[in-house]
Amino acid sequence: MERGWLERLQGGDVVLIDGGTGSELRRRGVPMSPEAWSGLAARDNESTLRAIHGDYIRAGADVITTNTFGTSRFVLQSAGLEEQFARLNRLAVGAAQAARADVADRPVAIAGSMSCLPPGFDPESYPARAVERAAYRELAALLADCGVDIIALEMLQDVEHGSLALSAALETGLPVWLGVSARRRDSRLVAYDYPERRLEPVLEALIGLGPTVVNVMHTPIDAVGAALDAAKRHWRGPLGVYPELGSDCAADAPTPEALVECALESVGRGARLIGGCCGSGPEHVAALTEARARLLAARNPSA
Ligand SMILES: [Zn+2]
Repeated sequence: MERGWLERLQGGDVVLIDGGTGSELRRRGVPMSPEAWSGLAARDNESTLRAIHGDYIRAGADVITTNTFGTSRFVLQSAGLEEQFARLNRLAVGAAQAARADVADRPVAIAGSMSCLPPGFDPESYPARAVERAAYRELAALLADCGVDIIALEMLQDVEHGSLALSAALETGLPVWLGVSARRRDSRLVAYDYPERRLEPVLEALIGLGPTVVNVMHTPIDAVGAALDAAKRHWRGPLGVYPELGSDCAADAPTPEALVECALESVGRGARLIGGCCGSGPEHVAALTEARARLLAARNPSA
């Protein structure tokens, strides 16, 4: 099991993770599913997926993330693909492992992504609670069985669903990343998709379940600092940041330099695990790698 990343984090080092996988697949011409977003790429565009993982390793990522954000059983069921559950997830982890075997010349860890994405992106469409809980447990156990080094929970925004996914991930015994998504609404920090919901009580409740790392992820750059500060009011362990840079890869998406600036400020606030989310590509990770000495210098021991 590759745990060097965790020892480095705990020792205060800066550890780089990859950029967006779904948005990068789309940028390379892979069609998205209306229900499972990028989840079918492992079956239908495996070579592109493997190339993206490899490009992130070449760009300097110490951790790469599997393309399993939207492949829980109940999401696949809504797409009529329930029988593909095990195959899609095993292929997705396999693509990351194959890229690592082909490309890595240093330790690279693989984080198995899990989310609380509702079927068809519709929050009214979650299955019964027992079914939902079983689906998270099934996916977490399968990712662990495939040999991922970490379970990365992504875009958690509430306690109701997030606690089920986080508990399921913790049951595997693997290190677990709690990834929350926020944005600014007026002067408040709110859940990314639910502007009526303050993020901090969600963070406080989920942190109480005992993750290994707390990540501010898929969050616009202008909300990252406030989200880190909110996390730090409830958490003294390792912190990470991988912001959203625009999920449509829009022409006005923040540049690699803008991500580096955000990373420098985040490291100053105590974050040590650094990467990008939707809209960032290998060029963004390469810019972080190039800025490594500046990132190390930006660490603030009292943050
Ligand atoms: Zn994202």
